[in-house]
Amino acid sequence: MKRTYVIGAGFGGLALAIRLQAAGIPTTLLEQRDKPGGRAYVWRDQGYTFDAGPTVITDPSAIEELFTLAGKKLSDYVDLMPVTPFYRLCWEDGTRLDYDNNQPELEKQIAAFNPDDVAGYRRFLTYSREVFKEGYLKLGTVPFLHISDMLRAGPQLARLQAWRSVYSMVSHFIKDDHLRQAFSFHSLLVGGNPFATSSIYTLIHALEREWGVWFPRGGTGALVEGMAQLFRDLGGELLLNAEVGALETQGNRISGIRLKDGRQFDAAAVASNADVVHTYDTLLKQHPVAQKRATGLKRKRMSNSLFVLYFGLNQPHAQLAHHTVCFGPRYRELIDEIFNSSQLSEDFSLYLHAPCSSDPSLAPEGCGSFYVLAPVPHLGTADIDWHQEGPRLRDRIFAYLEEHYMPGLRQQLVTQRMFTPFDFRDTLHAHQGSAFSLEPILTQSAWFRPHNRDADIHNLYLVGAGTHPGAGVPGVIGSAKATAQLMQEDLTG
Ligand SMILES: Cc1cc2nc3c(=O)[nH]c(=O)nc-3n(C[C@H](O)[C@H](O)[C@H](O)COP(=O)(O)OP(=O)(O)OC[C@H]3O[C@@H](n4cnc5c(N)ncnc54)[C@H](O)[C@@H]3O)c2cc1C
Repeated sequence: MKRTYVIGAGFGGLALAIRLQAAGIPTTLLEQRDKPGGRAYVWRDQGYTFDAGPTVITDPSAIEELFTLAGKKLSDYVDLMPVTPFYRLCWEDGTRLDYDNNQPELEKQIAAFNPDDVAGYRRFLTYSREVFKEGYLKLGTVPFLHISDMLRAGPQLARLQAWRSVYSMVSHFIKDDHLRQAFSFHSLLVGGNPFATSSIYTLIHALEREWGVWFPRGGTGALVEGMAQLFRDLGGELLLNAEVGALETQGNRISGIRLKDGRQFDAAAVASNADVVHTYDTLLKQHPVAQKRATGLKRKRMSNSLFVLYFGLNQPHAQLAHHTVCFGPRYRELIDEIFNSSQLSEDFSLYLHAPCSSDPSLAPEGCGSFYVLAPVPHLGTADIDWHQEGPRLRDRIFAYLEEHYMPGLRQQLVTQRMFTPFDFRDTLHAHQGSAFSLEPILTQSAWFRPHNRDADIHNLYLVGAGTHPGAGVPGVIGSAKATAQLMQEDLTG
């Protein structure tokens, strides 16, 4: 029996491969790098462990479902720990909000910003829960292959005013400027501009309130490893250092896979977890339909990129929460520049990851491993030479963190590493160095996003951030469910 291939072992590729293998479809997962994880890769240096990407793990039920399918328990592979507060949000004027699931405590903090916003927040939460039910629970794991699927969802989208932006909807309920930022920044976690992305993305707030924020003991990498092990335990084949160079076609079918190192495989079906532009433009270079898709995709808006600094210190900085959002002096203007300007802004807003506050084993005793990221324009928006700009931005960010959050930082550095838009482009084949694939605006979501199954190339499927529903760990795990359903119907039906 010919095997089915999944290209790329990001969270989406791993989840899909587990589902296929659990359904009895012999599956091989091909990953170009030396470890699985994709954006959730792990760097290790001098006893420090750095999760490269996702750190805020939400909707553990979607992950548990993968293990249940295989007759196993998530807890046999990975220990997920609750994180409190979910995030600490800090502003330069010294105000802060520890955001978590404790309603009375949250309301007390909201009241300290503006007493009238307590009632507004409650109404926002009700709205967000409704969007969560419609947008996530009902539609987050079903494929949108036909315009009729979109039309069916239309009335609900209209009722929830999905044409409005996240920020506009939050501002409708909440008046205080800090709180508007606190409840609208979430779409940035999946590459969405809160001023342009559909208010459907306010569902992230309800999702966090529903299931909490979690962190795997040993880091996100431990979850990746757990999923890879589950796949192997099911009899799946995971090939690392296996970069796909081309997909071979016969008419409108994929017939085989060619690796860069010359290995070749016959394929029953192929699902790509690699970047969607890379998939159509490079891997299917010779196919006219694929080339048409690539041309169309290159006209779409990609989400922003990120500048990430991983650093290990000889101090733990136990004063830090696990997740801190450090809002800079400007919000709307800065975000506009990140998504639309050809220049790098002078100021920044940061996300600071301090995982040792949940799991000290991620650094040598008495030390701390950290990462800090700044959203920055992708390479199509701003043609920045990151070889030059990277070290400058690093120095500015370290100085800023030292002044506001981590006294003595530069004296305490043991190890450091940067990841710039060039690395997203060159290491992950990300079009324009985007960190989250296509920007999640309404006209690039659901049916308007590349479909989970190609309409013309009959045994080609997509999984991951570039297809429905989109980026983020719950999103790509949801995409695997949608894609697996189609593949199972096609391959075993
Ligand atoms: C710094 C950062 C922080 C983030 N934080 C969070 C967070 O806290 N919470 C959250 O939910 N989300 C977060 N996200 C978003 C989330 O990480 C991603 O949306 C998600 O992990 C993407 O998964 P994916 O399945 O699309 O695959 P990817 O992770 O993009 O993996 C694709 C894989 O395909 C492989 N590949 C590419 N081309 C080939 C080829 N030709 N041959 C073989 N293999 C190939 C790549 O090497 C890679 O392993 C973050 C993202 C980043 C970058």
